[in-house]
Amino acid sequence: VDIKNAGLKLTAPRIKILQILGESAVEHLSAEEIYTRLKLDKADFSLATIYRVLAQFEAVGLVMRHNFGEGGSVFELNNGEHHDHLVCIECGQVEEFVDEMIEKKQQHIAQEKGFKMTSHSLYIFGICPKCQAKS
Ligand SMILES: [Zn+2]
Ligand SMILES: [Zn+2]
Repeated sequence: VDIKNAGLKLTAPRIKILQILGESAVEHLSAEEIYTRLKLDKADFSLATIYRVLAQFEAVGLVMRHNFGEGGSVFELNNGEHHDHLVCIECGQVEEFVDEMIEKKQQHIAQEKGFKMTSHSLYIFGICPKCQAKS
């Protein structure tokens, strides 16, 4: 993931936000979470700046935007490897997976309908093992 290769100038907010996304143990962050982390890091950018930078990153393919239900958009670095997501509706935990069969099947369906597939996203919503154990 490289800002310059993506055709964007290096600016402090861009560098910082990319760093936060890269360092985060949680791979999917909302703009608000990035804002909070930047503050802890003594980098005080406005939420509007963060939204703008994330939109720019998304436009050039540096990050992917997801909508896991309630909380609004979350962002993750685009490392070029496609994956799908399992989302816990109790605690919000997100797990990633890739299944060759599902990938192929989707290609098939698109082809059958005469579609040229450009992308897809698949979210499985449910309750994670931890939350199941709690109830
Ligand atoms: Zn859970
Ligand atoms: Zn992901």
